[in-house]
Amino acid sequence: MASTQESHLHEPLEWDTPLFRTAIAQYDQAVPHADIDPGVAERLRYPERSIIVSCPVRMDDGRRVVFPGYRVQHSSTMGPTKGGIRYDSEVTLGECAALAVWMTWKCALLRLPYGGAKGGVRCNPREMSQGELERLTRRYTSELLPVIGPQEDIPAPDMATNEQTMAWMMDTYSMQRGHAVPEIVTGKPISIGGSVFRHEATGAGVVMTIARACERLGWRLSEQRCVVQGFGNVGGIAALELVERGATVIAVSDVSGGVVDPAGLDIATMGAYAREHGSLEGWPSGTRITNEELLELECDILVLAARENQVTAGNAPLLRCRLVAEGANGPISLEGDAILRSREIPVLPDILTNAGGVTVSYFEWVQDLGRLFWGRDEIRAKLAEKLSDAFDRVWEISTDQGLTLRTSALVAGIKDVGAALEARGLYP
Ligand code: NAD
Repeated sequence: MASTQESHLHEPLEWDTPLFRTAIAQYDQAVPHADIDPGVAERLRYPERSIIVSCPVRMDDGRRVVFPGYRVQHSSTMGPTKGGIRYDSEVTLGECAALAVWMTWKCALLRLPYGGAKGGVRCNPREMSQGELERLTRRYTSELLPVIGPQEDIPAPDMATNEQTMAWMMDTYSMQRGHAVPEIVTGKPISIGGSVFRHEATGAGVVMTIARACERLGWRLSEQRCVVQGFGNVGGIAALELVERGATVIAVSDVSGGVVDPAGLDIATMGAYAREHGSLEGWPSGTRITNEELLELECDILVLAARENQVTAGNAPLLRCRLVAEGANGPISLEGDAILRSREIPVLPDILTNAGGVTVSYFEWVQDLGRLFWGRDEIRAKLAEKLSDAFDRVWEISTDQGLTLRTSALVAGIKDVGAALEARGLYP
């Protein structure tokens, strides 16, 4: 009898994808340093709840297409679950599970009263009209009604979703309740209860974390030459913030490829161009390069702000930077991470570096619940304070225990969730 209850007998086949394996392998590396009860540690290896839905959508040409959608809630120990919604052709249940696990550690690391969740719909958002995206969003939200709520699970934007997507979600949810419920989502337009500075928060937070790391490393941020992969919400704003702080951004890329100019790029104008044209395709100046070439450019700081699994065993030996900052979630594979460690290239890990988004999402939720709104300077200052507190705890664990910054960040998050779970006990 006892043997059937041994650890890991129920291997998580349902979520088994390379990204989920990465998240769990990282967890397994960190847990021995987190000093938590083995039973508690075992529970946290599995998402609490995973939902698969199918969303029929009427397309502009009259066809009906059914899109698979997902929502994974990893841990509700610390409060409601929280996490983005992505629209992408590669979304799977396992990918959402991995991202939900990371959200749990991220929220705990930042001391936000949330657990992790993530969701998404497998679709090609770039090939869909606004009308199709709206109908998809409303149907997906309806399918999730039994499991989302301001005290249950609070969605936010992620890849290819934005303020407009959140407005449609908020409206769909509110229509079901019969009154406006702004606190159901974060990252929505300011006109319906969104927060100032939420749009910029993730990218700005990436640069606040980089600035803090530069201080510790004895570097001047204004003297750094930076390369940014991904030019959307996270990468576009991070590139702009870097330039505003005096750094030189020599290359950026998006799904259409990269642009390099060793003298520095005009990020503000490129951002306006990408917003107008949907990507950097056709941008007239600088030299065009591929995304592979961009990652191998010689620079001081490489910001990975596109998507997961960009630095792997194949290209990690070829990177020519002095510091990597993970703006995206999971942009470095386990093997890539081990190679960077052996090359002594420090990595500012995703759960710390891109935590600005969920932190200001938390501020947005608090403001919505209190119906009282704060100013931009106050929010920026509160974010800087929370990020630097988290950064200092991570740095301290890393120095004291000789662990990488990634493992240290995970240890900080896992420790707090583990302690909370132990205090609450096992139900029933
Ligand atoms: P986005 O859709 O706004 O931007 C993604 C960018 O990456 C686009 O410029 C796209 O063209 C580019 N891109 C996609 N595939 C690429 C590839 N193979 N090579 C180079 N560029 C590519 O999405 P986002 O919100 O900026 O999210 C980016 C990453 O940051 C994701 O991993 C997301 O989970 C993470 N993240 C986002 C937030 C947020 O608040 N938006 C918060 C935390 C983490």
